Amino acid sequence: MIYLDHAATTPVLPVVREAMLPFFGERFGNPSGLYAAGRDAQAAVDGARAIVANCLNARPAEIVFTSGGTESINSAILGIAYAMRRAGAGHHVITTAIEHHAGLHAAQFLEELGFEVTYVGCDSKGKLDLAEFEASLRPGTVLASVMLANNEVGAIQPVAELSRLLRRYATASGHRVLLHTDAVQAPGWLEIDVEALGVDALSLSAHKFGGPKGTGVFYLRRATPFRQLLHGGGQESQKRAGTENVAGIAGTAVALELASTATLVRSERVRLLRDRLRDGILTAVPGALGNGCQVDCLPNNLNVSFPGIESDQLVAALDSRGIAASSGSACSNSTWEPSHVLMAMGVPIRRAVASLRFSLGSGTTEAEVAAVLAIIPDEVRRVAAMSSEIRVVSSE
Ligand code: PLP
Repeated sequence: MIYLDHAATTPVLPVVREAMLPFFGERFGNPSGLYAAGRDAQAAVDGARAIVANCLNARPAEIVFTSGGTESINSAILGIAYAMRRAGAGHHVITTAIEHHAGLHAAQFLEELGFEVTYVGCDSKGKLDLAEFEASLRPGTVLASVMLANNEVGAIQPVAELSRLLRRYATASGHRVLLHTDAVQAPGWLEIDVEALGVDALSLSAHKFGGPKGTGVFYLRRATPFRQLLHGGGQESQKRAGTENVAGIAGTAVALELASTATLVRSERVRLLRDRLRDGILTAVPGALGNGCQVDCLPNNLNVSFPGIESDQLVAALDSRGIAASSGSACSNSTWEPSHVLMAMGVPIRRAVASLRFSLGSGTTEAEVAAVLAIIPDEVRRVAAMSSEIRVVSSE
């Protein structure tokens, strides 16, 4: 298989698996246990917390382990907005129209709870409209949640700039607006420094960077108003109840440390391969069009619309040739809808439903890119011919 869906998930790295195995065996203790096995598990969690904090330039006490990106994002959006409203700060939240559904649906749930939410749009490259963002600030705005890098088109958002803008706004108006970023797609490709970004909260998901599924990181800056989502025991400093996923947490730390090493070198190598794939496709397939930006975007992401096809059919055709690609965000694959991200970018619907996302990984090779380029033009022609036959038959 040639795997080009690393934005959906990545293979667990062998060293990560090794680091996790003892916790499925002899190191099985519950971190809350007051005896040796419990202390051992707690030490593993604390060690992982220190590593993760170091990777993000945060303090260990600011790291909360969760069940994944979705939980971290929900914790940030719901937990901060709720606490701010309870403190009497207001009930208005700003986010973007191109967030992952984990963020969008959490924001929609806030609306059910009586919050007002502004969904800021983006340009044709998937870049947040800064002027619209600034214009939507108002007294009573308590939280802004803007993703660091988009999972469908790879656009990188100016999060550090937003943080500076919010600080200027706070000085001028006396209203503090907290900032969360969904950084799930960033590790391995971008350096993540919570101080440089100026964020109050940040979310990660381990399986996107060589770690295990079902483990996430939630960074919450010290003293940020927050009400936990999960109630129960006092784990994770009262911020996330439930027995810790010790093996997953240990694996997450190893994976993040690796992803945070030589980020620039990895990014440059993969960017060249991605550019070769993009240029090869656009040259060999008449009418193919790239979606999204070419600068200021993730180096491993390529989103292309192919003429005359429906994306699911081309994904299936490529699958039959041993190539794994995605027809948009993996989480929306069960519903046949044009991508909300492409729609927000103003991509015509016909082109949006004909788009594929190829996302490369650190292990992607030149030979794989060459093999994909040798297969794609034929498969696009075949699928397009099939689709036009179906259209003729169904119109008769
Ligand atoms: N945010 C972004 C940008 C993502 O790409 C994803 C996963 O596709 C998520 C959040 C959700 O992460 P998880 O499925 O690990 O909960």
